[in-house]
Amino acid sequence: MYLKELSINGFKSFAKKSELEFSAPITAIVGPNGSGKSNIAESFRFVLGEQSVKSMRGKRGEDLIWGGSEKVSRGNRAGVVVVFDNKSRTFALDFDEVKIERVVHRDGQNEYKLNDSSVRLKDIHELLANANIGSTGHHIISQGEADRILASGPKERREMIEDALGLKVYQLKKQETERKLEKTRENIAQVESLRREASPHLKYLKKQMEKAERSLEVQKELRSRYAEYLKREDVYVAFHTDRLTTSRREPSEGLEVVQKKLSKIKEVLRETESEPATPPDLVSAEEAYRLATKERQSLERELSKVEGQVSFIERRLANPARTEVKADMFVSRAELEEVVLDIESDVDKALGKGGESVLERALNDLLHKLKTFLRREQGEVVDTASADKEELEILWKSLEKADKAVKEALATEGKKRESLEALRLARVADSEKNRDAEREMFSLLNRERELEASIENIDRELRVLERDRTDFKIQLQEAVALLGRGASDYFTLEVINEEGEKIADEAIVSEDRDAQRKRQHELEKLKIRLEELGVGATEDLLKEYNDAKERDEFLARELGDLEASVSNLKELIVDMQSKLQEQFAGGVEKINKEFHTFFTLMFGGGSAGLEKVQLKQRGEGEESLSDDEVEGEEGVELRVALPNKRVKGLEMLSGGERALTSIALIFAMSQVNPPPFIILDETDAALDEANSRRYGDMIEALAKKSQLVLITHNRETMSRAGILYGITMGSDGVSKMLSVKFEEAAEVAK
Ligand code: ATP
Repeated sequence: MYLKELSINGFKSFAKKSELEFSAPITAIVGPNGSGKSNIAESFRFVLGEQSVKSMRGKRGEDLIWGGSEKVSRGNRAGVVVVFDNKSRTFALDFDEVKIERVVHRDGQNEYKLNDSSVRLKDIHELLANANIGSTGHHIISQGEADRILASGPKERREMIEDALGLKVYQLKKQETERKLEKTRENIAQVESLRREASPHLKYLKKQMEKAERSLEVQKELRSRYAEYLKREDVYVAFHTDRLTTSRREPSEGLEVVQKKLSKIKEVLRETESEPATPPDLVSAEEAYRLATKERQSLERELSKVEGQVSFIERRLANPARTEVKADMFVSRAELEEVVLDIESDVDKALGKGGESVLERALNDLLHKLKTFLRREQGEVVDTASADKEELEILWKSLEKADKAVKEALATEGKKRESLEALRLARVADSEKNRDAEREMFSLLNRERELEASIENIDRELRVLERDRTDFKIQLQEAVALLGRGASDYFTLEVINEEGEKIADEAIVSEDRDAQRKRQHELEKLKIRLEELGVGATEDLLKEYNDAKERDEFLARELGDLEASVSNLKELIVDMQSKLQEQFAGGVEKINKEFHTFFTLMFGGGSAGLEKVQLKQRGEGEESLSDDEVEGEEGVELRVALPNKRVKGLEMLSGGERALTSIALIFAMSQVNPPPFIILDETDAALDEANSRRYGDMIEALAKKSQLVLITHNRETMSRAGILYGITMGSDGVSKMLSVKFEEAAEVAK
């Protein structure tokens, strides 16, 4: 026995608290029409969590609360408590007694309690379903409701049968799984939509990140190339600057020496240049020499003239005949010119020597000469011999004088020539010296040019190096600007070749500059690439990307989990479905057997059975089934054949026959999977006496497996009950309950 007590307070016509105990297998509730018996059956539905107010003959929740009468004011709440014995743990709770309570308030709010603790309706449903007291209430057959199993369609009938078979738990679980599946699919759609929404941004961020990563790679490459370039450049420029500075020293010093020498020589030469082309002493020496020569020549002429005269006179003396001179004797022009020249010479000499005595002597001389000449002209015959001798005397004196004068003149000329020669020699020696100086100057100038050219060459190289150094500094600044301060650490770098061996400085400094220019070109290309790519990943971008990625990965995982759970749930549903089908098929078979037994018992023959039918038959061109729809869902049809009657089918049955058939089916269902209790509200109303007895027999058989609460007007039925409750309703409209004995029961029921 499971059902222990029912307590109704404020529910429908039970304005005051009424309690029923169910200590017998069969409890009958009797009373006149309208006294409130069916309200008791409904109070069972209510407390067991029925949600359909309509099935409790109300429109709103309020209708379930005592509505008041003229004498008793209305209530604000309706509460029903049912107590089960749970020693056999019919309910999955570790208590010997299970107390379920439901209260409804006027505002429609419901409260549920399990053993005095507040619970959810769901908890009540689960608890009851497990104890085979499903919410479809197959164990509570309300007034006139027995027929429902006949009147309902195959699907509803199937549900009632499932409920009776205790498959409700699975159904509930299946439904819950389906709800979960639905929810999971919604979640999937939601997650997919979130991922879709975030996807363009993530893609954008990913691209940015890839760009940033490429930028980092370029930066890395640029850093290493910069380091090599700068290191090489530094070594190269330093080395060659040193080399050139050193190699410039020698020609510079040389140039200095050469220039000093040059300036000295130039000084000397400048001085020489300022001297006149022919120095005055040379000029006067030359003049003196010329005069001496001229003097000597004049004296020589004088001498030779005197000699001529001497020789003439001597010849005349030697040959006197020839001494007669005729008056008409011819005087040659030559003789005349000779006389003139002679006179001229004498005059010159006299003038040259100056002094009156000289002049006087010269004039006497001239006079004499002219007289002599004239005498010859006049052809005067003279004693020539004596004259000649006289003249010869004079001439010899003159000759001696002239000879002496010539000798003296020669000596003077010689002296003059010597001194001129000496001057000339000195001059030659001087110009010789100048030529040497000039030669040296030219050689020094050549040397100067050579040195200047070589210095210029070095300077040119140094200028190139200076440019390289400036370029180097600019490159270094750019490197630091682009790559940060670390870029200036290039000097710690060891330049290595492809084999990873260190390249010596000697190799660096002697390398062809084209190679370094190529490196610079590569640097420029990398810088352009870096500029295109941007600076690289900022922390913000990195964080944003990581967040977005993490979120996407999280969503992807979530999606994976959700998809996995969809397939799990589907599998579970298929599993449950097949379990349900299996159990349903087995259950239907058993019910079928019991139904036939009860039916033949009731009607004394005939046949009855259940038939499974396909609920949906999809034709061609119809929509295909959705994932959730189970193909070939089954319903249940009834097949009955009364004994000795040809007609078949439910429609042909009389009211009583229908009642018997439905009772047979309800009982059959209860036999296969007995619920803890069954409430039958006037299912026996339409039975005649004979059938009432059969009904009574079946009840007793049924009571062996389930506790029965029977609402009845039927004496036969009353007679089978162990406990009888009488319900009455007074003028206050309040249902009252009293325990009655069988003998009183019929009275009460009237
Ligand atoms: P019958 O034998 O004719 O089937 P019954 O004994 O089963 O009758 P019920 O149908 O249970 O009687 O009771 C109906 C009575 O309950 C009516 O008189 C009705 O007015 C009363 N009733 C129903 N709901 C309320 C309510 N909310 N407040 C007060 N009375 C109510």
